[in-house]
Amino acid sequence: MLTAAEAERLIFTLVEPVRAVESVLLADCLGRVLAEPVRSELDFPHWDNSAMDGYAVRAADVQQVPVRLAVVAEIPAGTRPEVVIGEGQAARILTGAMMPEGADAVVMQEETSRQESEVTVLAEVAQGSFVRSRGSFYRAGAALLEAGRAIAPAEVALLAAAQQTQVKVFRRPRVAIVSTGSELVEPGQPLGPGQIVDSNQYALAALVAQAGAVPVPLGIVTDAREKVKRAIALALSQADMVLSSGGVSVGDYDYVDAVLEDLGATLHIRSVAVKPGKPLTVATVGEEGSRQLYFGLPGNPASAMVGFWRFVAPAIQRLSGRAGSPSVAFVWAKAMTELTAGGKRETYLWGELRATEAGYEFVRSAGSHSSGNLVNLANTSGLGVVPLGETRIAAGESVRVLVCR
Ligand code: AMP
Ligand code: MG
Repeated sequence: MLTAAEAERLIFTLVEPVRAVESVLLADCLGRVLAEPVRSELDFPHWDNSAMDGYAVRAADVQQVPVRLAVVAEIPAGTRPEVVIGEGQAARILTGAMMPEGADAVVMQEETSRQESEVTVLAEVAQGSFVRSRGSFYRAGAALLEAGRAIAPAEVALLAAAQQTQVKVFRRPRVAIVSTGSELVEPGQPLGPGQIVDSNQYALAALVAQAGAVPVPLGIVTDAREKVKRAIALALSQADMVLSSGGVSVGDYDYVDAVLEDLGATLHIRSVAVKPGKPLTVATVGEEGSRQLYFGLPGNPASAMVGFWRFVAPAIQRLSGRAGSPSVAFVWAKAMTELTAGGKRETYLWGELRATEAGYEFVRSAGSHSSGNLVNLANTSGLGVVPLGETRIAAGESVRVLVCR
């Protein structure tokens, strides 16, 4: 049985990123992944400009202070200065306004006193002070943003400033979701004896959407081999990646692995030494170059979600075309409660990861950590990890926590 870290590494090698490119409006690009490097034809700043409200001066004139200078112009932001600053002269200048010719420094307003058409400068000024010089942040033509960069709000700001009204991004991966189980009913339907609501369909769709991909929910399939086969074939025809839940353990009606083999898939992983979520099927369908990844997650709600956070989320990051080697984020936190485990598998306990001034704290959810219990999954923001071979982390000790997002 593979360890979680081994499974994660193997899964990365199996993911083939979506390469199709589409163009989206600047206003719609948040959360997408850049398909091409972005350059600007503009220098940043575009002009020498003032970083302060004050006076544009010749530094050479302001070496002996106090000194009086004649104010020969006023330059608000967004205008072209019409003057050349000569010896003994200054221009009133506002933040962001273009520097006038002749001036090479700005004195901040707080270090001056103004008398009608003259200003007294009270503190000496070095050449270049409070001048943001053209191209000092970025030179036109260089790469501003690399391909493979996920677009967060700061990237949106850069794209806007670089006049990118249309942004070339990778197509979002489509991820099909199939729930297997004859006991499952749609939310809203009455429950017969022994039945259970298909919560995984909705949980996985929410996780897929949060990971930046497009969920393709395909509903429930009962535990009949032919039906499971048809459902999986349909899912593969509609998506870049498929997630199913249920049907991957050793029960009499667990058909997913057998059906994948019927469909010509290669099974790479059948179980991982983690708790919850040991039965985990990872398969690929198709030849290298057009290969689809299949995750058969266990049916128990906590197992399905933990399996997603630990293995599927980073795979979707990679599928989305993000550069670098994506991985789940782990942080060290102070365990606020005791954490126990069986010791035979790496154990993930759900709970709340809190950022405090003193660092992170992890509070294990109260109640049962049975893989069938989804009631106390609410409010989960981290999974505290009890490593393989260990059975206890005492309250107050450090615990490694997977950040759920
Ligand atoms: P399985 O992995 O198919 O053996 O399923 C294990 C258990 O998980 C089942 O007995 C159900 O109680 C539960 N389960 C399976 N599929 C789902 C689902 N889609 N939503 C919620 N619970 C499920
Ligand atoms: Mg089942």
